[in-house]
Amino acid sequence: MIEKVKQVLSVKVKLILDEEKKRELLRLCKAYKDAMNFVFANSFEKGKKDFRTLHKAYYRILRERFSLPSQYAVNISRKTATIYASKNKWEKPPKRKSLSVDLTFNRTFSIKPDKRVVSITTMNGRLKNIPYLGWEKHYEYLQRGRIGDAVLVYDKANKEFFLHIPVEIEVEKQTPQEVIGIDVGEVNTVALVSSKGNKEIVPRTEEYKRLKEKYQRLRQALQSKGTRSAKRKLKKVVGREKRFVESFMHYVSKYLVSKYPQALFVMEDLTGIRERRKVKRKNTEEIRQSNQWAFRSFQTKLYYKSILYNGISPIFVDPSYTSQMCPVCGYTSKENRKSQSDFECKNCGYKEHADIVGATNIMVRGLVEVQNFYQGLFVNQPNALPYGMEQAPTSLSGSS
Ligand SMILES: [Zn+2]
Repeated sequence: MIEKVKQVLSVKVKLILDEEKKRELLRLCKAYKDAMNFVFANSFEKGKKDFRTLHKAYYRILRERFSLPSQYAVNISRKTATIYASKNKWEKPPKRKSLSVDLTFNRTFSIKPDKRVVSITTMNGRLKNIPYLGWEKHYEYLQRGRIGDAVLVYDKANKEFFLHIPVEIEVEKQTPQEVIGIDVGEVNTVALVSSKGNKEIVPRTEEYKRLKEKYQRLRQALQSKGTRSAKRKLKKVVGREKRFVESFMHYVSKYLVSKYPQALFVMEDLTGIRERRKVKRKNTEEIRQSNQWAFRSFQTKLYYKSILYNGISPIFVDPSYTSQMCPVCGYTSKENRKSQSDFECKNCGYKEHADIVGATNIMVRGLVEVQNFYQGLFVNQPNALPYGMEQAPTSLSGSS
């Protein structure tokens, strides 16, 4: 039997519109935003804020006062309910700032991927056959995948409209032939160690370092100014920097999935608190955050590319002490880490590049997870249980 793995991608396309159509979509975006803020302001002091309650209370008003087509009025209640639920306590009513509209597939938005056009419901009927532009690869995904509810986004700075379309792609699942631990370093982009014995450090290019420093300087200069125009410029610089980092991470992740097409990639689970791995540093909180953002961007890209190109879902493991533990003898100490790049075990003397040590520990944790998974298939045979687990913990023993 052929097994499948699924991956949802977000495809972004630019809409090609004349001025009149742009005005129509902008009118819709504004009405949608105003209507949402109206619901926030009016429902805030009242009791329940779930979808049903909001829908019942505001549907008519949204239709009449804001002239919104029915589906949009429904979506506003749903969206406001979701936003309310995203936080435990709101000090003041939430406020919608962006000009974007939640569309519903095959209701307020439809697409013909073979003709590369979309249709969108506005307050003044339907805009049909709007051409769109995107990446070559994205055209293919739109043709091949299952399309979901898109979001219409207005880019104020460039006066352009974009559609963010979720697409679910199905690929044939492959059996990995090796396990590769990936360590995302701060100086080197990634270090990897394979269960087959390969080691590799993918360095950042000179151009990457140069640009990264340039953006950092620019950011700091604009921040210390603190004027309104400096803040506006800062926003643009941050956006440009993000796009540049993103394209670099695309390049590195693409390189990895094509060089190791049969690998099960193992990465650190950074959703929790990340171990402070730097020995001594003067880095500001802001730089740390920007690095974390880059790590996440890389992980996301490697994750979906591995599924998409190779049919193998990467796994995530506990990141604690991966940079301090000796992979040879298991001795764990901060002292093992002599500097950002040098690891020398205080117990057994094992020496290696620190990022390679990190990648080795991550690879080993990945191997353990894979083995646990296979052992899981034999839970009914007591002999197959790992050592020390002959007796199930009492809290887990059921009535059987
Ligand atoms: Zn050791």
